[in-house]
Amino acid sequence: MNDTMKAIAAQQSGGPDVLQPADVETPRPGSGQVVVRTAAMGVNFIETYQREGVYSVAHPFTPGSEGAGVVSAVGEDVTSVSVGQRVATSEAIRTYAQYFVVDAEKAMAVPDGMSDHDAAALPLQGLTAHYLVRSTFELGPEHTAVITAASGGVGGLAIQLMKRIGATVIALTSTAEKAATARELGADHVLGYDGFADKVRELTDGRGADVVYDSVGKSTFDESLKATRVRGTVVLFGGSSGQVPPFDIQRLNGSGALFLTRPSLAFYLRDAQERAWRWQELTDAVVAGDLKVRVGGTYPLAEAARAHADLESRATQGKLLLLP
Ligand code: NDP
Repeated sequence: MNDTMKAIAAQQSGGPDVLQPADVETPRPGSGQVVVRTAAMGVNFIETYQREGVYSVAHPFTPGSEGAGVVSAVGEDVTSVSVGQRVATSEAIRTYAQYFVVDAEKAMAVPDGMSDHDAAALPLQGLTAHYLVRSTFELGPEHTAVITAASGGVGGLAIQLMKRIGATVIALTSTAEKAATARELGADHVLGYDGFADKVRELTDGRGADVVYDSVGKSTFDESLKATRVRGTVVLFGGSSGQVPPFDIQRLNGSGALFLTRPSLAFYLRDAQERAWRWQELTDAVVAGDLKVRVGGTYPLAEAARAHADLESRATQGKLLLLP
């Protein structure tokens, strides 16, 4: 392992161009940690919020929480993971780099039948789709669910998981091409965003959806409330169009005694057992060919800026990966 490596380092907040390659010190594992030689790293929307300064970060800033690769060094007290093992994680820091550090308990084993690209693409979006449909709202075959950004990373995986459960899925997306993808993934109905609440009511005999999973946020949130049945659940889990402004809780009183939650992945990976349960279900499904991980684009690490610009342009489908 060389003393220095290539990584992305942003010196300030701003647009995609602040993501510039740099030579930085190669990390060493602390106690209980492992170092991973990166095979591929996942690009996620949260890194655009951090880059812009919507979520504050210290500079120089190397983004990234997700990656897959081979363990190259282990710290003291590490017994669960060994050098040479293939692992993946959504819970590291500074993964936009040739090597990254992660706590040993957060390094999830990658099964033999799974490619490096799938291993890097699955953790964050897969674990999110899993907790949304298995835990935030325990979806059953009797339920109708609405999901936004249906051909995106989380959206595409969520549709497939929902159909495995047997729920009825109403997918929302912005273009005909993305609508075709959502249908291929199994969505029962595909709609555009304009006035979607009325259309969801038509499709549910006036009742409304049992649950709406909304990651678009600012531009869809009001319709999501209107599309949900009495005592149904609205899960606001992102803000791709901007964050939802402060919300008057009295509105829930007038809109059907809805349940509203704003979850985050960290609260659904509370311990090793919960992490292992979700990861095992996801990887079993991928290896069995029942869950398709879609990589929508790969970029050299040095071109992270282009990957961010593409993700924000709304033109991508599936997962974007950076390659070291
Ligand atoms: P996606 O692949 O879904 O990409 C974003 C998509 O959002 C676009 O393709 C587009 O799909 C849609 N979109 C709607 N409005 C806009 C806009 N104004 N600008 C850009 N995109 C827009 O990304 P991810 O799967 O990585 O993430 C999806 C969302 O889930 C994000 O908001 C992210 O922050 C959130 N998230 C939340 C987590 C949590 O635990 N709370 C964890 C992981 C992700 P379309 O054209 O179909 O509308």
